[in-house]
Amino acid sequence: MNVDSYIAGHWQAPDDSAVVLRSAVTGQAVARAGNATLDTQAMLDYARTNGGPALREMTFHDRARALKKMATYLNDHKHSLTELAFNTGATRADSAIDIDGGIGTVFVFASKGRRELPDDTLCSDGEIEQLSRNGSFLGHHIYTSKPGVAVHINAYNFPVWGMLEKLAPTLLAGMPAIIKPATSTCYVTMACFKLMLQSEAFPAGSFQLIAGSTGKLLNQVGYHDVISFTGSASTATLLKSTPHLLQHSIPFTAEQDSLNASVLGPDVVAGSAEFDLAVDEICTEMTTKAGQKCTAIRRILAPQSSIDDLTDAIKEQLASTRIGDPALETTRMGALVSTAQRDDVQQTTRQLLTRATAVYSDAKPEINGADIETGAFMSPVLLRCNDPDNADEIHSIEAFGPVSTIMPYRDITHASELLNRGGGSLVASVITQDTNTARQITLASAASHGRLYFNNRHSMKESTGHGSPLPHMVHGGPGRAGGGEELGGVRGVKHYMQRTAIQGHPDIITAVTSQYVAGAAEIETDTHPFRKRFSQLAIGETLHAGPRQITLDDIEHFAHFTGDTFYAHMDEDAARANPFFPGRVAHGYLLLSFAAGLFVDPDPGPVLANTGLEGLSFQKPVSAGDSISVSLIVKRKTKRNDDYGEVRWHVRLHNQNDEQVASYELHTMNQL
Ligand code: NAP
Repeated sequence: MNVDSYIAGHWQAPDDSAVVLRSAVTGQAVARAGNATLDTQAMLDYARTNGGPALREMTFHDRARALKKMATYLNDHKHSLTELAFNTGATRADSAIDIDGGIGTVFVFASKGRRELPDDTLCSDGEIEQLSRNGSFLGHHIYTSKPGVAVHINAYNFPVWGMLEKLAPTLLAGMPAIIKPATSTCYVTMACFKLMLQSEAFPAGSFQLIAGSTGKLLNQVGYHDVISFTGSASTATLLKSTPHLLQHSIPFTAEQDSLNASVLGPDVVAGSAEFDLAVDEICTEMTTKAGQKCTAIRRILAPQSSIDDLTDAIKEQLASTRIGDPALETTRMGALVSTAQRDDVQQTTRQLLTRATAVYSDAKPEINGADIETGAFMSPVLLRCNDPDNADEIHSIEAFGPVSTIMPYRDITHASELLNRGGGSLVASVITQDTNTARQITLASAASHGRLYFNNRHSMKESTGHGSPLPHMVHGGPGRAGGGEELGGVRGVKHYMQRTAIQGHPDIITAVTSQYVAGAAEIETDTHPFRKRFSQLAIGETLHAGPRQITLDDIEHFAHFTGDTFYAHMDEDAARANPFFPGRVAHGYLLLSFAAGLFVDPDPGPVLANTGLEGLSFQKPVSAGDSISVSLIVKRKTKRNDDYGEVRWHVRLHNQNDEQVASYELHTMNQL
């Protein structure tokens, strides 16, 4: 099979510089990849003039719908990918993580794009900042799509997830991508890429593929472009020090290797649910993808009192792991990606052995349905290091395979110190029921890890696993782990957008953000807004209603009707003694109810439901005898489907002296 590159809308075959890629299982040639003459400038130009403008024309919701269409197509056609991935040594379960996990990630971004981002091409960041005494000059932060190209350089271990987890937030952000998978497994990536094109979900130029070397690409990018890298620390260091990238301040995000650890809590003893859970998590992390996972557990920290029990239990479970042909249902652990990778892991394991002893390894493991001579198979290896304080190698050398080191700790402080010796990791897990242990480790170690994963008998049935980066949660870590950040829901989308501070009058901020900001001009409505359809409502359209006087009878009636006879509403002396009240005051909820009574138009119409309320605050007490009026202002509109959309209303209550007494954001669902 030739692994072609996809450049400016055309496929380009490998040239004479191509390398032969071999099956991890049989050693036979499965593909050729590489082309030394790719026109990477043409790729950048095509993305900038075709993909980028077309994507930026689409709103977040349009892009989210396109992601869903693409993910649905991939889901319907994914079986061929699993078959192909057997050649990389991946079992069916490994491919479920890679392929289903990748497609699932796209679905999550599709859903988040529609639920959490506006149906617009820019989005807001945070709250309005008051920059002036009278509110005529405000500040706000916004994100717009970068008019450049995202260059994605991926590691070999997840040929599908690695591509999709970067691509989904990139496309949602409105940025086209050039994808460069690791050469050794790029035939699986290409097969998935072809399906993505067949889905016809995205405009031409949204994504292109490089099989082989990036050539001159990193010297051709500009300041609007972004490089997102996943791979080893050494390659990351090499690439991010490219002078052209440094000179032009081109963002470079690195996800690199990591000495992740798992801690068995001091409260956990052999025979408990937590103990068995720890053994399962550790063995799963050691053997899934034959340990070729950036988040795999490389270091196991156990209390001195239970380290022997834990070592024995892990050894027992590892001994029952069937290694062999990944295509067989009976195989639990497949092969490493290549014999070169296996040799590399064995070499790094020898370095670890200068500080540890092997307590489990099998020089000639039984191979299920395959041949150890031709395939890249190896036994899981459990090492034990009894003096982890004086063993730098254990905390710094990554054997990127089924290798892990167990070590004792004295107390939580010591466990945290050892956790942090990894110099910055993607994830650390703690198996404990003790909430104090969780808090202590968090305070001592959170700053050294991108993710902390706690698990125990109460959460284990629904927990997602130490090693699973989730699209909802941040993936990345400080220091050794690369200092980058990916995923994390909408946070991940913003990595591909430019944040800009905007300052100006509320009218300007309203116009820029398509979101009414207090202080902007109100448009007096010509018809009651509840009689208008979603599409007929204008941002800033306002209904003024009231006044209505509040009487003592109203307060008494409301108190007895609801049962809320709190002293501030019922007892004049007690209320007066309270520093907030002049005497008995109206219930806040009474004011809300009266406000609704003032602004609601009762007949059936385009308003279908009141779906919530946000940001309620009471600014001034209202006493019997005061009168309240209400302003109902269209703040933001978000289309939800072909039938209806959400309208957010800014609601302001004021008294007879025009002093604001309460404000909130009301949500309704309106017919389009
Ligand atoms: P790698 O050798 O560093 O390669 C990573 C990527 O960089 C590949 O696409 C590779 O392409 C490319 N590359 C290498 N040299 C390059 C150059 N001079 N110019 C442009 N691109 C270049 O890593 P790997 O062996 O594929 O992956 C294993 C490592 O990745 C492990 O250390 C693992 O911990 C880490 N990893 C980290 C994460 C994470 O999220 N943090 C996830 C997965 C893996 P070629 O294949 O063509 O050389």
